[in-house]
Amino acid sequence: MTPRAFYEPPGAISTSPSVVLHLRPGGSCSALVAIKAQPMQTPEEMKARNAAYYQAHKDEKAAYNAAYREAHKDEIAAWREAHKDERAAWQKANPDKCRDIAARRRALKRGATVEPVSRAVVFDRDAGRCHLCGKKVNPKHWHLDHIVPLSQGGEHSYKNVAVSHPRCNDSKGSKIRGQLRLY
Ligand SMILES: [Zn+2]
Repeated sequence: MTPRAFYEPPGAISTSPSVVLHLRPGGSCSALVAIKAQPMQTPEEMKARNAAYYQAHKDEKAAYNAAYREAHKDEIAAWREAHKDERAAWQKANPDKCRDIAARRRALKRGATVEPVSRAVVFDRDAGRCHLCGKKVNPKHWHLDHIVPLSQGGEHSYKNVAVSHPRCNDSKGSKIRGQLRLY
């Protein structure tokens, strides 16, 4: 019998040989008839594959999520109401995480490529210094600055964010479109 179709799992992630199934004309599977070696994916490759999948399907996913929220809005509102005290307590206890979430949401809204970014990690990495003037910032009041602005296609990612003073960040806005970045 001539096999007329085969199935391979997209992006198999183990080193075990992937199985190639031949389908009978009726559609049922025959016994295993072939094996094929599949290289193991590194965590970076898996991450890249997931990111590519997300980019390719983000509109679909957003539509699905919006439809879900619409269909379940009463339950969602009831759940939020029932848990509002816990929520407020968590927000009070985790102000930096709240800012991380808000920054990520803003970046997503702008259609930026987004990775989870923690302000606490950026603060430590930059040793609490403003990348624009080099001076220390107030640990409780600083801006997570996008080096290439989201509005100009910058990513919300560790390599494109840095600690800044609110004032330095605000004054950058007008300069960046002018001459500041020419030198
Ligand atoms: Zn500064």
